Amino acid sequence: MVGWREVAAEFAGTALLLLLAVSAIVAGFAAGSPIVGAVPDEYLRRLMTGVLIPAAAAGIVYSPLGRISGGHLNPAVTTGFWVLGKLTSGSALKYAAAQVAGATTGALGALLVWGHAAVSVRVGATVPRLGGAAAALGAETLMTFLLLTLIFTFVDHPRLMPFTAASAALLVAVLMLAEAPVSGTSLNPARSFGPALVGATWTGLWVYVVAPTLGALAAALLHRRRRGTVACGKLLHDNAYRCRFLNCAYTPPRDRVQRLRRHHYSWREQPKMKAIAVYPGKADSAHLTDVPRPAVTDVPGGHGVLVRVLRVGLDGTDKEINAGEYGTAPAGEDILITGHESLGVVEEVGPAVSEVRPGDLVVARVRRAGGSLYDLIDTPDMTTDEAYFEHGISRVHGFLREYYAEEPRYLIPVPAALRHVAVLLEPTSVAEKGILQAYDIQRRLKVWHPRRAAVLGAGTIGLLATMILRNRGLEVTTFGLEQAPYLNSELVEAIGASYVSTRQTSPAQVAAQGGAFDLVFEATGYSPIVFDAMCGLLAKNGVLILSSVTGGMRRSEVPSDAINLDFVLGNKVMFGTVNASREHFEEGVRDLAVAEARTPGWLSRLLTHPIPGLDRYDDALAALGEPGAIKVYVEVSPDNV
Ligand code: BGC
Ligand code: ZN
Repeated sequence: MVGWREVAAEFAGTALLLLLAVSAIVAGFAAGSPIVGAVPDEYLRRLMTGVLIPAAAAGIVYSPLGRISGGHLNPAVTTGFWVLGKLTSGSALKYAAAQVAGATTGALGALLVWGHAAVSVRVGATVPRLGGAAAALGAETLMTFLLLTLIFTFVDHPRLMPFTAASAALLVAVLMLAEAPVSGTSLNPARSFGPALVGATWTGLWVYVVAPTLGALAAALLHRRRRGTVACGKLLHDNAYRCRFLNCAYTPPRDRVQRLRRHHYSWREQPKMKAIAVYPGKADSAHLTDVPRPAVTDVPGGHGVLVRVLRVGLDGTDKEINAGEYGTAPAGEDILITGHESLGVVEEVGPAVSEVRPGDLVVARVRRAGGSLYDLIDTPDMTTDEAYFEHGISRVHGFLREYYAEEPRYLIPVPAALRHVAVLLEPTSVAEKGILQAYDIQRRLKVWHPRRAAVLGAGTIGLLATMILRNRGLEVTTFGLEQAPYLNSELVEAIGASYVSTRQTSPAQVAAQGGAFDLVFEATGYSPIVFDAMCGLLAKNGVLILSSVTGGMRRSEVPSDAINLDFVLGNKVMFGTVNASREHFEEGVRDLAVAEARTPGWLSRLLTHPIPGLDRYDDALAALGEPGAIKVYVEVSPDNV
């Protein structure tokens, strides 16, 4: 797929690199070089070449030559990108040939320019020294592995990509300083071959062909396991220069050079569908876009379930994502399809799927498994991984699109009788998790019969927590800012809970008068209230559940002695909870069903703001802040839900 322009640039870049590198070595080490006389300390001269050579390489990558070819300058680098599916075998061979020819030409150039002086340093040939061939083999393999891992990681992240070459140069400089006495720090078969040929120094050349190739293969295979592929085959992708690498994530889809591979890629060039996406970190970047439509075969092993999206609810998290304060794109992509509160209908299933059938209603779980122990036992909501995966929020696309393909284990079947309210299941699962975990934690007490509960916050989560606690027969007081009566206070009272406006009465006053609470569920999104809740609200042995995601930088002064004393003398517990796993979704289905049976129509009253169609996403975002809004949701499919 690469053209003659790219191959020529790669040739010229590698030739220039070798000319500069050999010249630096001549300057630093050749017999008769004035620098050798001026700086007798060999280590200092090694420092000089160890900085100059990587800097020259980085300079070439940043120059137009590197921007055209991608600046591999090294068959090991090309091999790595080839393994990751960024160039065809034919292109990779052309690149390698150009690099070897370039390196030879550059070394020859250095010989012509420096003559005898170049001969005295064997035209810069690398030869195993300390430790012999075995040590050189090990060192070169390991160092190339490190270098390529760094390159792939940087290229994969839009924000790091511009710094790939600079960081690689820094790494190589450090390696050269530390390791040069062992192998000469080549990391590059072409860089070793050119001088070997021109200087007729063949000793140990095989080491410099085998080791970097092994290191590159290891790095590429590992990266492929972790991320499938890499965003681009260039060290520096610059839109001003055409990118001829395959499936480049930095090139707009219509201009991309594509090649289908056996390997599974989620963004294959397929029939299109509409989606709403943002550029994470960029404020107000939500936009309608066309993306490839997934297929049931996107999930390997016949385990695919193709789901047509019916409805997607929005919440504060979506608002923060569109404000650029939150959210991460999937690896190698710059957009994130948003939306995590879904309801869909199964359209097609793979041959290995027995859990759901076409026509079934399903809600997708939000988190996907990462690598921690908790992920392995299907509780990714408890992951200890720093980088976690949440549809529409973090590193995986969300559901504001017409279709998605998923594995059955991430889907929760919902009875048809709940079709009209099931878009509330995901926020319900978040409240369920908090409450179920509180009950789990309270097993420390041997006997726990909570009677009084307080819910702080009367938004969607607060209302759903009120519902769950009422279903369990607790006496619930729900606190909100607004003065009653209004829709939320009416909803609280309609299920037999009491509503209190904090404008009139503080939760602490209610506790002082009517008795403290065995369970407090915090869902206001306002962190200072947590410390108020810690003081005087909880009954002895009580439990306080924190569920607000507060992305800001708010600080407050707290009565620390009083809080601490109260917790210690009262055996109290406070814990945080995020997301939900399968059991919480399933418990949520039951609670929605109970609520619908006990107070028919109550859940529907939460669905205040339907937005017809993906194209009206702006209206949906605007509605999120409106007074009177409880659940804003997009009717993705025109179906009558
Ligand atoms: C979602 C959760 C998610 C959390 C943190 C919430 O809005 O409902 O599923 O874990 O945000 O990203
Ligand atoms: Zn590219």
